[in-house]
Amino acid sequence: AQEGILRRQSARESAARTYARALPIVPVRARGLTIEGADGSRYLDCLSGAGTLALGHNHPVVLEAIRKVLDSGAPLHVLDLATPVKDAFTTELFRTLPPGLADRARVQFCGPAGTDAVEAALKLVRTATGRSGILAFTGAYHGMTEGALAASGGAPDVRVTRLPYPQDYRCPFGVGGEHGAELAARWTQSLLDDTKSGVPNPAGMILEPVQGEGGVIPARDDWMRWIREITAARSIPLIADEVQTGVGRTGTFWAVGHSGVTPDVMVLSKAIGGSLPLAVVVYRDDLDVWEPGAHAGTFRGNQLAMAAGAATLAYVRENGLAERAAALGDRMIGRLRALEADFGCVGEVRGRGLMIGVEFVDPERPSTTPGGPPPAAPAPAAAVQRACLRRGLIVELGGRDSSVVRLLPPLTITDEQATAVLDRLADAVAEVAA
Ligand code: PMP
Repeated sequence: AQEGILRRQSARESAARTYARALPIVPVRARGLTIEGADGSRYLDCLSGAGTLALGHNHPVVLEAIRKVLDSGAPLHVLDLATPVKDAFTTELFRTLPPGLADRARVQFCGPAGTDAVEAALKLVRTATGRSGILAFTGAYHGMTEGALAASGGAPDVRVTRLPYPQDYRCPFGVGGEHGAELAARWTQSLLDDTKSGVPNPAGMILEPVQGEGGVIPARDDWMRWIREITAARSIPLIADEVQTGVGRTGTFWAVGHSGVTPDVMVLSKAIGGSLPLAVVVYRDDLDVWEPGAHAGTFRGNQLAMAAGAATLAYVRENGLAERAAALGDRMIGRLRALEADFGCVGEVRGRGLMIGVEFVDPERPSTTPGGPPPAAPAPAAAVQRACLRRGLIVELGGRDSSVVRLLPPLTITDEQATAVLDRLADAVAEVAA
């Protein structure tokens, strides 16, 4: 059955398929970290629906929440009408919000994808400020619709100004650490102060507290606080895109919690729907400037997603899964760091909580920046992904030229499973490096 399904789908589906190319499997059953293919093969799934499955596949509390709605006879599709299910989701979501936002928050249901919520957030700050410029960062990913894509650097847009996102390994200023972050913040500040730069008056700034698709690049907490000061002093709304970092993944419930920064706007999706499509924007009440109907969408009332999402948010909060992600993530990253010393093709291991990346490089080629790391190398990363699959481990690729192997395991992963994941990954790297 597996071969036939793969053959028919690759003949009939668009060339736009992405994951299906690198992962020629046909999942038929899944539980927790494990996926089973139609041919009976089993995999540890560290792709987790691109970071969607905070509780892994088919978690009992998620299934129970979905079944409860189905059995209740409640309408499944209600546009944006109020329902008990939406009430419960909103209550649970508001419990988790950062201080400073929690008591003055408005939630806007968008839908159903992360990119839809990004579009709404960009349009909101433009409407609220009457301005049009958007500040975004190098290496960012916000989605595939036009506005989100422009903020990601994928579609040229004169309204978007790109700013340096600090990082140690490939520091845009060649110094890394606190100094590199300070230079990045100063860059932003001077651009905004320079009346001739054309960007002193933007509508808002959008950033990921940990860049995900960009190759797992955690923002430094000091830089986040500087950026917050710079934007607050100029009344520039700060949009935190927590589509991938949210719901405990990085070790705090929302990743802005690491720095204590309170954004003006938060974009949330992926894990908030408990594996079903759901996307919202949350913002301070004074930004709620919409005229009724100024931003709509048919599918923003998915009752099953809200029920699955409420159950997920509650489970993560009540079981301290963010703290668990912080502790386990530290241990996993610590063990993976040994690969940097053992293999020249492993450039850097980095991450925050259970958002982990291993960047591959070509140690034979000279750096493109003086004193910098070797160039990123997509070939070994792709080879490691294939070698992992042969060992029953599913990993994602991201980053510059897809040179970063990414792990996004569910927050429910056990210590034993984490060890199995690391063993298989280390084994795959050793095979590719040999
Ligand atoms: N923002 C971030 C930070 C993301 O990681 C993603 C998806 N990877 C998106 C936005 C877009 O979400 P979606 O694919 O659901 O449109």
